[in-house]
Amino acid sequence: MIEELLPGIFKLAIPLPRSPLKATNSYVVTTGDRPLVIDTAFNRPECRESFVELLGELAITPDSADYFITHLHADHAGLAPSIAGDDSVIYFNEQDLPLARPTDSYWDWMAKMYESHGMPLSDSAIAMERHPGRIYGPAVDFPYTVIHHGDRLKTGQYTLRCVQTTGHTPGHMCLLLEEANMLFCGDHILGDITPNITMWWEMKDPLGDYLKSLDATALLKPVRAFPGHRSIIEDCAFRIEELKRHHTTRLEEVLEALKDGEKDAAAVTPLISWDLRYEQWDDVHPIQKLFATGEALAHLQHLEAQRMVNTREEHGRILYRLAGS
Ligand SMILES: [Zn+2]
Repeated sequence: MIEELLPGIFKLAIPLPRSPLKATNSYVVTTGDRPLVIDTAFNRPECRESFVELLGELAITPDSADYFITHLHADHAGLAPSIAGDDSVIYFNEQDLPLARPTDSYWDWMAKMYESHGMPLSDSAIAMERHPGRIYGPAVDFPYTVIHHGDRLKTGQYTLRCVQTTGHTPGHMCLLLEEANMLFCGDHILGDITPNITMWWEMKDPLGDYLKSLDATALLKPVRAFPGHRSIIEDCAFRIEELKRHHTTRLEEVLEALKDGEKDAAAVTPLISWDLRYEQWDDVHPIQKLFATGEALAHLQHLEAQRMVNTREEHGRILYRLAGS
């Protein structure tokens, strides 16, 4: 499906088969010498087919375009390197770049890291095998062009300014369309689902960074935001406040979960409310458990940064407890 948002700027919804996200929104700015595509989709044949077909309706071939990737996740970055042409530029932020194509040892490290937070290795190993980042990430290396906060991309009558919004990933980058004060916001802000905030090797307090990025985004007062999934956001200030409230509630749930004693992150996770359908926590698929545990960890790390929670290690297991208890 194609929708024209502004003269020469189009939204393409690329279906993601069997994904709860349903589709990735790819945006195409056609006003410059070369089309600029903001985000692609998974590196899988179904996505490639839809992407090529939809782009074709705009009389564009993928190899004639340049690309801007908001962040490293495979549902945004996966397809770009294999459809770009020899002359294509792919803009990518510096902090996400080392994880653009993670090695097997990275996935092994992740499985062990989750084990130290209480997830059985049998679960985390399954989750790593099924992880979309591993299955649908870029198949080839690419000489990405690194962009930084404040850089501007000029495309015909439009100026797109890079706005770093660390949190969802270490270097997540939005693009502000300066002439209209509208924001291409990737997964920084989503309308009817909540962006996942998880732990990262490189980050001490990803949720703290995310909340700061939300405040910085609110100061920009974007009049509309074009997210990576689902519907366009018409009231950005309201949605930002909703997202902040969501995390405040979740932080309270985490504190409540620690009231009766110290726990590892995997034990805290089932005590938090999730938007998942299950009778018992054991029924939840390991990949969903992994995402939920990652999210719980980001909240625990934030509480630790706020000195509301303390941590200690025991036989390789990391335990959290309320400060002062
Ligand atoms: Zn994402």
